[in-house]
Amino acid sequence: MEFARHLSEHPATAERRAEILKDPGFGNYFTDHTVVIDWTEGVGWHDARVEPYGPIALDPAASVLHYGQEIFEGLKAFRHADGSVQTFRAEKNAERLNASARRLALPELPVESFVEAVKLLVQVDEAWVPEGDGEALYLRPFMIATEAFLGVRPSREVSFRVIASPAGNYFGGELHAVPIWLSEHFSRAGHGGTGEAKCGGNYAASLAAQLEAQDHGCAQVLFLDPTDDFAVEELGGMNVFFVLEGNRLVTPRLNGNILHGVTRASVLQIAADLGLSVEERKFTIDEWREAVAEGTLREVFACGTAAVITPVSELRSEQGTMTFPGTGADAVWARIREQLLGVQTGAVADTHGWLTKL
Ligand code: PMP
Repeated sequence: MEFARHLSEHPATAERRAEILKDPGFGNYFTDHTVVIDWTEGVGWHDARVEPYGPIALDPAASVLHYGQEIFEGLKAFRHADGSVQTFRAEKNAERLNASARRLALPELPVESFVEAVKLLVQVDEAWVPEGDGEALYLRPFMIATEAFLGVRPSREVSFRVIASPAGNYFGGELHAVPIWLSEHFSRAGHGGTGEAKCGGNYAASLAAQLEAQDHGCAQVLFLDPTDDFAVEELGGMNVFFVLEGNRLVTPRLNGNILHGVTRASVLQIAADLGLSVEERKFTIDEWREAVAEGTLREVFACGTAAVITPVSELRSEQGTMTFPGTGADAVWARIREQLLGVQTGAVADTHGWLTKL
């Protein structure tokens, strides 16, 4: 795909950037440019371009504003010791975007165009890729329905965009174990719904539960499936893993309700490489409680692009708090995290071909 280039940096950019990169946090600041590709029914994808970052002009009747026809992705580019910048498993995100597109009746974008768009933005804004330990440039591709029409039907005009944001630790400060909140009144997804699509509506629907979590000192919510024996699904923005006695790694199976996490898939591969036994299966809250009571639960951890791998210290709920062992740095989660971050940052050999150099 040919991208037109309209580049421009604010004169104060270099200074501002240096200041921001000292402590970027997560999702607070955005780079100088954005990549855009528009789509029109009957025409296809057109007007691929990179342009200065800025507000989007949208008609107030644009269907994304009314019916939430929107999908997005999240992936990272890492700076390696040799100065090169590499993206992690961008094709997987491209494929997942297309799976979400099918569910939300949006057009699919060729995988190569997605990867090209992401690489182009990283190239143009390369100075924004942080170098610190655990830091990366977080990329946010998204697709919105832009047609001005109030009838309920798939939009005939769509815009795909990529923005980028320098990122440090998702939960702020140094890596530490986090408590999570068990949502008992809200569900994140239902069978046949949009649970495994990465669409904005899923996140809007999770916010009330997240507020409840915050009131109990937790940054993330755990969702269960009340229609399937209260099987564990996932957190608001991360997949969840359990380490049971005998180095058995268990994670909820992909049942249509949970996101096909790229980190989840990578953790499963790394765990197999490390010789752990891995089980993708139904794991109910009762089995979890029993494992804690019997002392067979060794660790709980959560994983996702933004937060990498984070140990979970407690599950808080209206019934009380369950506390978990294995949050120390000698645990299985830490070995997997070291491997994963090692591949991402170039310290460990990329034996599965997960990295793409710019
Ligand atoms: N579940 C949900 C609901 C998420 O939003 C995310 C973050 N994208 C994940 C799991 C983890 O997915 P990934 O490893 O691809 O970031």
